[in-house]
Amino acid sequence: MLIKNFFVKKKKYASIPSEKAKQEIPQGLMQKCEDCQKIFYIKEWLKHLNVCPECGYHHKLPAYDRINSLMDEGTFEEWEQHVTSKNPLNFPSYEEKLKKDKEKTDLVEAVVTGKGKIDGYSTAIAVMDARFRMGSMGSVVGDKIAKAIERARELQIPIILFTASGGARMQEGMISLMQMAKTSIAVERFHQSGGCMIVVMTNPTTGGVSASFASIGDYQFAEPGALIGFAGRRIIEQTIREKLPKDFQTAEFQLEHGQIDKVIPRSELKQSLSAILDLHQVRGDQT
Ligand SMILES: [Zn+2]
Repeated sequence: MLIKNFFVKKKKYASIPSEKAKQEIPQGLMQKCEDCQKIFYIKEWLKHLNVCPECGYHHKLPAYDRINSLMDEGTFEEWEQHVTSKNPLNFPSYEEKLKKDKEKTDLVEAVVTGKGKIDGYSTAIAVMDARFRMGSMGSVVGDKIAKAIERARELQIPIILFTASGGARMQEGMISLMQMAKTSIAVERFHQSGGCMIVVMTNPTTGGVSASFASIGDYQFAEPGALIGFAGRRIIEQTIREKLPKDFQTAEFQLEHGQIDKVIPRSELKQSLSAILDLHQVRGDQT
């Protein structure tokens, strides 16, 4: 008994790593939660699709990771893979900013589009990535989204749109704003042809994206805690000269006020999307 106790003796207290030790945590091995500040092994982090295992905070999920987490293996076929933005207004240092974001994210633009299968059901998909120019919508993002919707209409398959955006892209001015109309028209044509469009708003979905295609799906979902709104809190407070509630512009607030249909945790998304795709399968005698 004595010997056993000797070996299983536990430490009575945990040691707190010093500032220096914290800095020495190798990059890519550990991940810190932006909300509860707890640190996890990256392996555990990735297993939860960037959702904090402790507090459930939904961190940004890169576009290709999102696609891999949903689509059946080997079924995803990307559309307009190499289309990239130019600098139509000669906006100062726009090209350098694009170059930096390309290197940082391994993406060529802020949205990835294509088609594939979820649990065997064919669907088109467009996934925005907030790491690239804050997921802002310029001419290429707008065009890729409009084209994906048009293709889904031609192929007669549903489309799922994951939105993550700071709004219209400042560096493309009016051309960015035109994308709101362009994408909305594509959605309207898709609706008229009887297509099913599912929108999943992720953190953040704001500005011109929230005010166009992101708000006109047949199903409007959001991830927990996602910031959803048009103008920022400060601007609204200054305009109406009133203090806004603490949870204003969260997914949960939007659900309570009828703006969205359901808040779905990332771990349940595939199952929910698959159930909806199943509902929209054409069945019975087609003759
Ligand atoms: Zn956390």
